[in-house]
Amino acid sequence: MRIGVYPGSFDPVTLGHVDIMERGAKIVDKLIVGVLLNGTKNPMFTVQQRVELLKKATAHIPNIQVCPFEGLLVDFLKQEGAGIVIRGLRAVTDFEYELQMAQANRSLYPAMETVFLTTNVKYSFISSTIVKDILRHGGDVSHFVPRSVLDSIYFLGGSNHGSSDGN
Ligand code: ADP
Repeated sequence: MRIGVYPGSFDPVTLGHVDIMERGAKIVDKLIVGVLLNGTKNPMFTVQQRVELLKKATAHIPNIQVCPFEGLLVDFLKQEGAGIVIRGLRAVTDFEYELQMAQANRSLYPAMETVFLTTNVKYSFISSTIVKDILRHGGDVSHFVPRSVLDSIYFLGGSNHGSSDGN
């Protein structure tokens, strides 16, 4: 069975992420969405909240599983028996970092491959950072996040707003 991992912070999940998950799930037998626990980005949503939002947002994709992980991505791949990492590319600005990560991961675990899916142009400007900025200022994120999680994102984003202990 071909198992892929789509790792990220997903703080919170966006329409751009879901598009990559729908497409990624078609090229592997099972796609594990790996939610980074040890992100250094001072998250707005706790890892449990991010996992719950992702589960709701991907309920329509049968071969997807969402789980948190910490530590090295290559260790998570080995633990899950996965040989493929899926990442999304929005613009050239993503490329330098993504190339470095892919090469570092392969030097740690030569049996793995990173597969890059290019963003759907209609979502290319969407990022979790922009969603959080809009939420902090009480704006409308309905064109940025899946409809199934919109209410939860407003609720959680509003109650977590201002808390610095997001992990
Ligand atoms: P990070 O891993 O840097 O915390 P995210 O959790 O925001 O990043 O995103 C995880 C993955 O999804 C990355 O590969 C990122 O490039 C990709 N991604 C994020 N937003 C989009 C988008 N709008 N379209 C396509 N891919 C995206």
